[in-house]
Amino acid sequence: MLLVLDIDGTLANTSKRDHFIDKPEPSPEDWESFNAIENVVQDDPFLEAQFALPDLLEEIDEIIILSGRPEYTRDITIDWLEEHYNLGLSNPKVVDVVLRPGRDFRKARKFKEGIIFDVILPEYGNEEIIFVDDDLDNIEMMSKFGEAWVAPKIWEELIRGS
Ligand SMILES: [Mg+2]
Repeated sequence: MLLVLDIDGTLANTSKRDHFIDKPEPSPEDWESFNAIENVVQDDPFLEAQFALPDLLEEIDEIIILSGRPEYTRDITIDWLEEHYNLGLSNPKVVDVVLRPGRDFRKARKFKEGIIFDVILPEYGNEEIIFVDDDLDNIEMMSKFGEAWVAPKIWEELIRGS
C-alpha cells in the first residue's frame, strides 16, 4: 500500500504564516512570503499527526511526500520532516519527496494531478493508494485514484479509531 502525504496543513501547522495568504479581498495573496524559508521553518507539527502516524505506517509499504511547496525549500523541508516525523531520507519507506518546480504557478490541484499521472500511477496504478491532504479541491481529485483522507482531522479520527 502506498501513502501519498501532503505537508502544509497536513503534517505542518502553517498557522504562523497563513496570514500571508488569508487576506481579505482585494489584497493579493503573498505566496512568496508564505513560502519564504525563514517563515516555513517556523511551522510546528500537528501533535495528533505525530501520534497517529506510526500506527498507520505499519500498514504502509511506501510513502511519497507530495507538496506544493517550492523546490527551493527542499533542504529545510527534508530536515523538518526528519526532525518532527522521522520521514526524512533516513526512512526507507520514503521513496520520493516531490515539490513544486520553480516557475510552476499552477493551482495545487493541477500540479498534483500531473504528478499522479506522470509519476505515481505508472508505478503504483495497481496498488492501493491512500492520499492525505488538507485541500478539498485536491481531495476531490485524489479520490478518483484511491482513498483520500482529509487532514488534519483524519489524525484525530485515527487516534480515536473511528
Ligand atoms: Mg496542504
